[in-house]
Amino acid sequence: YTEPCLRFLTRHGSTVRLRSTATRLEVASRRVCGILLNDGTRLTGDYYLSSLPPDALLKLLPEEVVDGSGGFGSLRHFETSPITAIYLWFDRQVTQLKQVALLGRKIQWIFNKASSADSSLGGEDSYVGLVVSASRKLLPLGPSAIVEMALDDLREVLPSVREAAVLGSVVIKEPSATFSCRAGCDEIRPKQKSALENFFISGDWTATGWPPTMEGAVRSGYRCAELILEREGHASSILQPDLPTARLSRWIGRF
Ligand SMILES: Cc1cc2nc3c(=O)[nH]c(=O)nc-3n(C[C@H](O)[C@H](O)[C@H](O)COP(=O)(O)OP(=O)(O)OC[C@H]3O[C@@H](n4cnc5c(N)ncnc54)[C@H](O)[C@@H]3O)c2cc1C
Repeated sequence: YTEPCLRFLTRHGSTVRLRSTATRLEVASRRVCGILLNDGTRLTGDYYLSSLPPDALLKLLPEEVVDGSGGFGSLRHFETSPITAIYLWFDRQVTQLKQVALLGRKIQWIFNKASSADSSLGGEDSYVGLVVSASRKLLPLGPSAIVEMALDDLREVLPSVREAAVLGSVVIKEPSATFSCRAGCDEIRPKQKSALENFFISGDWTATGWPPTMEGAVRSGYRCAELILEREGHASSILQPDLPTARLSRWIGRF
């Protein structure tokens, strides 16, 4: 989706700077007045919108702003949660299902990436992607132990894996994949409208009412756009209505 996104932004008059790192936000009189990049460039604008993770934003803000009364101190309290992805290549098709959610097992998701020879599900060899969220217990393990653990689960749920030869494997551990959505974490998630007049914060970790997902990140961006339009005197409702809460969830939410 990055290419269509780049085309959209360029078509609408935006400049996208790749391989550019923000290193400092300049703040004066409760307003952001400039942003410094790693190549020494200083950018200024009417509004500033951060889409950085909390630890990265923390590094950009002057210490007195973080320690001040604006609520930025909560950025120090975010913890992260790992996600581990395991990719396995087999000498045969191991399932016709495109994706599988597993309950009560170490592997949580199986995505059937189909045959390496044929993108339909009809080729001889095959390739699956497995995902484990909140995979803290896997972080100290080496790739071969993780692959063995994954194969143990797969042999149970996909019997054809028992006969299949593993042609290759890749394990990718993302130790800080998302913020850790623990009970009570909503207390520290900041609103998109910050204490600095012209500075807005988006990101899956901001107060969206959603767990750290792509949907949450997008919703926070829409909310920032609404806030900026409002400042410009063009108030507009962009955020899609939230999904209705199912009766069971409403009931659980009462406790
Ligand atoms: C392995 C994995 C699997 C996932 N699977 C799913 C899934 O199935 N479904 C789902 O909904 N979500 C999934 N997620 C979560 C999803 O990717 C995030 O919720 C989403 O990307 C958060 O978007 P964001 O814009 O808040 O932050 P990010 O996507 O983290 O974007 C932050 C950006 O800031 C940039 N940045 C950091 N510091 C600086 C700096 N100083 N200057 C400039 N740029 C900087 C980073 O390079 C990054 O591009 C997954 C995440 C991982 C890691």
